[in-house]
Amino acid sequence: MSKFVLHPTSFNLPTTNGHNGNGGPPKHAYTSQTSLLHADKFLNDVPDVAPPLHVSTTFRYPRDHIKLIAAKDITNDNTESHVYSRLTAPSTTRLEAILSEYLNGYALVYSSGLAAFHAALTYLNPGRISIGDCYHGCHGVANIHTRITGMKQLPLDCPAEDLQPGDVIHIETPLNPVGEACDISYYAEKAHSRGAILMVDSTFAPPPLQDPFLWGADVVMHSASKYVGGHSDMLGGVLAVKDLNMRWKMWEERVYLGGIMGNLEAWMGVRSARTLELRVVRQSENATKLVQWLSGEMAKDDENAVKKVVERVRHASLQKEEFVRKQLTGGFGPVFAIEMHTEILAKMLPSHLELFAHATSLGGVESLIEWRAMSDTEVSPKLLRLSIGIENWEDLKNDLSQAFEKLAAEAVIINGKN
Ligand SMILES: *Cc1c(COP(=O)(O)O)cnc(C)c1O
Repeated sequence: MSKFVLHPTSFNLPTTNGHNGNGGPPKHAYTSQTSLLHADKFLNDVPDVAPPLHVSTTFRYPRDHIKLIAAKDITNDNTESHVYSRLTAPSTTRLEAILSEYLNGYALVYSSGLAAFHAALTYLNPGRISIGDCYHGCHGVANIHTRITGMKQLPLDCPAEDLQPGDVIHIETPLNPVGEACDISYYAEKAHSRGAILMVDSTFAPPPLQDPFLWGADVVMHSASKYVGGHSDMLGGVLAVKDLNMRWKMWEERVYLGGIMGNLEAWMGVRSARTLELRVVRQSENATKLVQWLSGEMAKDDENAVKKVVERVRHASLQKEEFVRKQLTGGFGPVFAIEMHTEILAKMLPSHLELFAHATSLGGVESLIEWRAMSDTEVSPKLLRLSIGIENWEDLKNDLSQAFEKLAAEAVIINGKN
């Protein structure tokens, strides 16, 4: 089995000493939005300004017989070309170069967020996983591992003493569907005090909003179907790790698990990555302004339309704990939740909105709203999840406002008496 074409140390990972820590080239002085455009430049070998779309699954070996290296003699450093796209391919490698720099760890791309989570659990193969509220699909993957390996599942608040070396704590922050944050450093200390590993699903707050590595995460996971893709048109997942050796082993296992991201999706991922920071910052600002407006209305004395229909707003920007602002250095996540007074109000709200599509998922440029009971069996039937896009926030506010007005008028009829 041949190894890898482009050694990941040629990805310039930021570290404190200005080098990537593995003898690679010095980190250039680009900030994150610039690196999204230029971190893959060294992989470009055509004059095209836009990255070419490569669809080939297989790549010609060198014509010069001197350059042919038998598989048994191949090392990480002595091959220069792609071989077969289950191993590496131009677009996946470009996307990994960009995301390695952006996420501040060696990145590997997968066919979906859950494929990435499955790959991480397969590699780590923990005896126990401490897991609490998180994306319902991750529980589904954990259950498969429990069936196959007997992995025990412990609650997130289990005593540290219940964990052993090699076990995993998995947290998601900000948390689906409410957008509230939990303290990464608390769980990092808990895991590391027992020789366990902390995995953080950071899908809801990609950089520049938060960098879980700064707070002690060992493995950072993203569903690239959300903000990395950003246009509700590609499925993908990412794992990022600090440890180069771990990255090699996970890469090797991905070759056999077959979960690499597709060529077309990776090309779309590169295209989307160019605007990732612009989008996320705008979405975060929009969401935070909307939450401020909603909670401001809720705090008023008068019986306004928001108060008549909304019971509670949930978002990290409303949390009081000190760690929240420290951790979300670049802004709060663009997803928040509202709980309505009744289930029927929650079911009716989406049809009263013009700018929000009633659909699951999040992270796209367009705003979405979801009566979450449609896809999550555990959630309150009064809860709606809002994924805020890049529209003008006041247009979104006006859209919500007119819907609340209509519902408030109808609520008299729905509830008999409001
Ligand atoms: C969507 C999502 C996933 C799963 O990702 P897929 O790309 O749909 O497989 C995992 N975690 C979170 C927080 C998500 O939002």
